[in-house]
Amino acid sequence: MPMLFVDLDNTISDRASSFRRWAANYLTNRYGRADNEMIEAMIIADGDGLLPKPQAAAGFAALLGLDASEQAEIIAVMRAGTLDELQPTAGITEALDAARAAGFEPFIVTNGRVPQQEAKVAKLGLADHIGGMVISEAVGVAKPDPEIFRIAARAAGHNLDDGWMIGDSAKADICGAVAAGLNSVWLRRGRDYPADLPEPTYSADSFVAAVELVLANA
Ligand SMILES: [Mg+2]
Repeated sequence: MPMLFVDLDNTISDRASSFRRWAANYLTNRYGRADNEMIEAMIIADGDGLLPKPQAAAGFAALLGLDASEQAEIIAVMRAGTLDELQPTAGITEALDAARAAGFEPFIVTNGRVPQQEAKVAKLGLADHIGGMVISEAVGVAKPDPEIFRIAARAAGHNLDDGWMIGDSAKADICGAVAAGLNSVWLRRGRDYPADLPEPTYSADSFVAAVELVLANA
């Protein structure tokens, strides 16, 4: 059975929207209002969730004028807040089920912390729609290291033959897929693909469209 590896954040879990909602709440609680310019600045300080967390914390501190104790807490506050604000995206579970019905094993491969990533999957009700999940913190290997895909395939009882990866990060998801010999679909999210990185097999504008591409080309 071929694997269909899927990234979690901003692939089947709309972290960007939940971060934006949390940032608006945080600013409103702190300053009594949340203007768009400030929300955008927080999104930049967060680096789409991909910056090292101490760096993101320092960015928030500079932007918001946090004192030392607030800076020490801000990542935990942000994690709890974005989890609270997380909402399911229409069509995701149906697309995972369609992939499984077509003979794929859908399996999450995510870089992150175990409690946070497990809580997202629970909140979104994804567990019944995937074969399992490998989290970088749990296995000590992170995308783009191709070893994380081998670990996931072994956990599922399969191999990488005819496998696919869907994700929104060129660096982590697509470079990892290429290194592992997987086909891949990159989720554009309104961005251009970096010219200096190995290219995905396909690009798509949504997870649902990405799964359709996989099933049409499997
Ligand atoms: Mg992602």
